[in-house]
Amino acid sequence: METAPVPLGMPELRPDAAGPAAPRPGGHETGLLDQFGRVATDMRLSLTDKCNLRCQYCMPEAGLDWLKKDKLLTAEEIVRLVGLGVDRLGVRELRLTGGEPLVRADLVDIIAALRSNHPELPISLTTNGVGLAGKAQALANAGLTRLNVSMDTLHHDAFLQLTRRPFLDQVLAGIEAASAAGLAPIKINAVLLRGINDGHAAELLQWSLDRGYELRFIEQMPLDADHGWTREGMITAEEIRALLSTNFDLSPDPRARDGAPAERFEVRAAGTPGLLGTVGIIASVTEPFCADCRRTRITAEGKVMSCLFSLTEVDLLPLLRTGSSTHDDDAVASRWQDAMWAKPKAHGMGRPGLGDAGFVQPDRSMSAIGG
Ligand code: SAM
Ligand code: SF4
Repeated sequence: METAPVPLGMPELRPDAAGPAAPRPGGHETGLLDQFGRVATDMRLSLTDKCNLRCQYCMPEAGLDWLKKDKLLTAEEIVRLVGLGVDRLGVRELRLTGGEPLVRADLVDIIAALRSNHPELPISLTTNGVGLAGKAQALANAGLTRLNVSMDTLHHDAFLQLTRRPFLDQVLAGIEAASAAGLAPIKINAVLLRGINDGHAAELLQWSLDRGYELRFIEQMPLDADHGWTREGMITAEEIRALLSTNFDLSPDPRARDGAPAERFEVRAAGTPGLLGTVGIIASVTEPFCADCRRTRITAEGKVMSCLFSLTEVDLLPLLRTGSSTHDDDAVASRWQDAMWAKPKAHGMGRPGLGDAGFVQPDRSMSAIGG
């Protein structure tokens, strides 16, 4: 498939176009270091490209080919990769994602195996919450640390329009079950689309505050399979803050951001002093945080993506499938390190730049990368 240029307001040359300037130093002790001095310690692992929703900003209504089963990382390969990451390459936290990770039948077994090998590792899951009600307790028992549930609105009609599926009640039941299973703190992820749910932002925040959930708004990124994203159409972080300010006063959270993608704000009811909680805004497009990025991503078929917007992918699967000796582990780890060494300096959007080289949207949609 050809990569289609996406017109953006303030393009910047993609710094990964030329590849890394210098050879990677050191052996495995340097971990997942890149050429700009950043070290990835936060591993995002996609368990599947399949999903039971069709969110407008992510998947097409129909017509996306699924990966063939033999291309997907097996449970054993997942456990081996996480082991390499944690034991050799300095991974300190793991997020399981997709596609929709709950559609994977062996999810609970995978989490149990990971927990048994890594008793102290924070393991979180990003899910759309469909089917969560029946699985939350088993996930907690298996050793899951916590959950992010994506839910963009509390309105059935808007939910249907956004996700193209009528499953809002299932999602709400899933969040409640996760809370009852002790999978706290629960974070709610929301993407706002103009004219559909932007008017629901303050209501969603009030609902989350009332229940002790941490709401995070994510700026819509150009990672939709339909390539329908436009800079003019997206709701910016600045607009999100303005939408919330009708009901709330926001002030910067004094706690250190510490590499987190979300900028956190303390929330108070407008004009009152009492702290109600916090809200996060992930402004990947308009206020990028690439300089402090600590993430390494592996797709469901074992490809390293050093950035959500990478145009290059490094395949670990052939090496993973050549054997399981220490020598092979060395080779897989080195290949992963090489991929991260070439991580681009920045994703190429959102900052006044170096002419109009143009940002190129990756072929993969968010569901096929692992958000
Ligand atoms: N299916 C799960 C879910 O929806 O939570 C996990 C995978 S999904 C790709 C992970 C996160 O990416 C979700 O919170 C979703 O809202 C977000 N996402 C998907 N497409 C996006 C886009 N184009 N821009 C910003 N966030 C997006
Ligand atoms: Fe599925 Fe998550 Fe993408 Fe929505 S955002 S289509 S739930 S993978």
